[in-house]
Amino acid sequence: MPTTVITHIGSLVTNDPARGDGSPLGLVQDAALVIEDGAVAWIGRASEAPAADEVHDAGGRAAIPGFVDSHSHLVYAGDRTAEFNARMSGRPYTAGGIRTTVRATREAADEELSANLGAHLREMLRQGTTTVETKSGYGLTTDQEARALRLAREHTPETTFLGAHIVGPEFEDDADAYTALVAGEMLDACAPYARYVDAFCEKGAFDGDQTRAILTAGKAKGLIPRVHANQLSHGPGIQIAAELGAASADHCTHTDDADLAALADSGTVATLLPGCEFSTRSPYPDARRFLEAGVTVALSTDCNPGSSYTSSMPFCVAVAVREMNMTPDEALWSATAGGARALLRDDVGRLAPGARADITLLDAPSHVHLAYRPGVPLVAGVWRGGVREV
Ligand SMILES: [Zn+2]
Repeated sequence: MPTTVITHIGSLVTNDPARGDGSPLGLVQDAALVIEDGAVAWIGRASEAPAADEVHDAGGRAAIPGFVDSHSHLVYAGDRTAEFNARMSGRPYTAGGIRTTVRATREAADEELSANLGAHLREMLRQGTTTVETKSGYGLTTDQEARALRLAREHTPETTFLGAHIVGPEFEDDADAYTALVAGEMLDACAPYARYVDAFCEKGAFDGDQTRAILTAGKAKGLIPRVHANQLSHGPGIQIAAELGAASADHCTHTDDADLAALADSGTVATLLPGCEFSTRSPYPDARRFLEAGVTVALSTDCNPGSSYTSSMPFCVAVAVREMNMTPDEALWSATAGGARALLRDDVGRLAPGARADITLLDAPSHVHLAYRPGVPLVAGVWRGGVREV
């Protein structure tokens, strides 16, 4: 396989504090990067770059690790434009909207679901995202959940079993019976296609005991827990995530100091989802509180047809800076290295020899422009596994 050098990178974010300016972003000015066999082989000053078979001149543009989007719901069919329009016109958000997507997803053919997922992943790639996690959760029967994960697995290894998204419509009066199904037969059918197990711990979805039962059963099957926690109200989700050693507690919109201490002590990542608060006109979590408490913060789109229909990590970075008290450097780190931590990955979210060559080139002199120029299409090139995709 030929080697490639990307040279004359004005400002390169490596997320390797041993490099460059020694900051958490490990910023290297006037940099070059060599790709070999899909991985980063060399990083340093452009003037010292070794020869390579192919040369790409970045012309002074900034480069960052490809975004790691660690939370999305993209195995679905149907359209919820009308629901969003109604909500923006004054009606409050209710979890019932998920049922609309469940009906449409159950009726869709495999080919339709797979094509819809593929189209969203390409949309993400064009915006600089090279690693994507996605979930089941719109099937809510054993066969439908297993189908969703089997299709997702054809597109990404980062798949999460979310049979516990809401209580299945066939079990509306018996959440405990549905919980037993999720933690039993449904888990057995889904585990071969999933890396993680997740539950929506919220009033009207799953309570603390039900969440714990599902995640514990998933762990026993070798799945890694993650939790939809403390999104709409303060509840036990974050504490359960910390207690079970979850990779991530996601949303974390309503938290107290004990929740933040539990996250910091356990090492469970807090995955903040600004697109969700944006799209539901809800108050944002204050990321500054999390960072000051020593919590590792990831940013993700939560891309889904109901509560956050954005696939754009640059958008989430800009909102996190404007509304969640993050610095541009912190937001960029959380959208790359933070996402990798939330997926327990050390080969993505950073650029260092041996890491996967996932590189996003920006039509800007600095990564700060992602927040400074919100809504502007700044992605000028994307390499994934060393292959130029955009
Ligand atoms: Zn979600």
